[in-house]
Amino acid sequence: MTMLEPFEICSIRPPTENFSLTFRLTRNCGWNRCLFCPVYKQGMKFSRRKMDEIMKDVDRAKAIDDLIMQAMVDATGRDIFQVAGDLVRQIQRYGGKADQPPLETSPEEDANGSGNGFSSWFKDKPTIEDSVQHVAAWRYYGRNTCFLGDSNSLVLKPDFFREALSYIRHVFPELNRFTIYGRTKSAAQMTLDDLRIFRDAGLDRIHFGLESGCDEVLAFMKKGVTGKEHIAGCRKTIEAGISCGVYVMPGLGGAEWAEEHAHDTARVISASSPDYVRLRTLEIFPGTLLADAARKGTFVEAPEDMVVWEIRTLVEEIDTDTEIVSDSASNLLDVSGRLPGDRSKMLSVIDQYLGLSPRGKLEFSLSSRLQSFVGQYGGVTQEILRTIMPFIDGDRIDLGRASYTEANKVIQLIRSKLMP
Ligand code: SF4
Repeated sequence: MTMLEPFEICSIRPPTENFSLTFRLTRNCGWNRCLFCPVYKQGMKFSRRKMDEIMKDVDRAKAIDDLIMQAMVDATGRDIFQVAGDLVRQIQRYGGKADQPPLETSPEEDANGSGNGFSSWFKDKPTIEDSVQHVAAWRYYGRNTCFLGDSNSLVLKPDFFREALSYIRHVFPELNRFTIYGRTKSAAQMTLDDLRIFRDAGLDRIHFGLESGCDEVLAFMKKGVTGKEHIAGCRKTIEAGISCGVYVMPGLGGAEWAEEHAHDTARVISASSPDYVRLRTLEIFPGTLLADAARKGTFVEAPEDMVVWEIRTLVEEIDTDTEIVSDSASNLLDVSGRLPGDRSKMLSVIDQYLGLSPRGKLEFSLSSRLQSFVGQYGGVTQEILRTIMPFIDGDRIDLGRASYTEANKVIQLIRSKLMP
């Protein structure tokens, strides 16, 4: 037990991979220039990991898993997290390798707001506690899924990816779904045969950060890709037999390009025909280049109604068979469903909101953001609790008592606490 060691996990992963077993094939982001993006900053450098490092991590995960499963045999009535907790305490007591340096980011970065709380959960160098909890959560909730990070695993040589996956599957034969993040540009630049090697190695899905289909927006945001390349990358991925999911960011065009952003994104999605479109409304995170642009006035945030109108345009104009997913607390409305069949149901959710009075919209926004926050993070922060305290009436929150300014203050506070 004292020989157990932590392995590197992917803190940044799609919500569908929250409970997957994860391994880092690369570290951080090789592009790292997108204005809106708060992750992999604070001096984090991109690097490719060596095969023996990856294999060592897989072996470390297996050693932890074996010990947890062994302990579970005698753990009558105790769940896997209690068993994992005991294990961590024993490792600490016997002087195992529990005290790895926990983070590369400093507390000051969070204190001054540049990290937005980010460093409290981004684990660049996980401890043995993190690794044990990660494996326990995978065993409890995930069991057969695996995510391979970090931000763009398509930068790897196909043979390298195949070798890594083959080793992971050999050590964990129960894994039967593998997913990665990728850049559409990388997929567009690869040959179909290379993408098929990724597919044949076991890759099931690529999550692409499409963000926008509008070239002006993509250029302003320094996304390093065009709408045409988005389409080429998605199409080639699908042709290779790999499922394709895209993230889209309502609000990314700001007030200036809202219309172009909405129409062009709908057009690019229609031509790309991804299996999933996940909505992530723009949040301007502190410390990003976009926060600087907003401060200088070169980027003006789109008002909430304009962002809702953009989503309406997407739902109305996307002309392909795809699933729209709203699984982020950044979204005001829960607009989810399968197009084209659920189009009218989704439009009615939007129109119901747009038909509210200004006061009705404000109260809806406050209540919806509060609920989504609790849903995504399992509760509110002390600061949010203090701010809503005056409106708590017994066991309910009476938002009708909040003035326009107070309600807006809570909304802004909740939005500032969202994680990327
Ligand atoms: S959005 Fe993706 S590609 Fe852009 S900097 Fe962030 S991680 Fe890298």
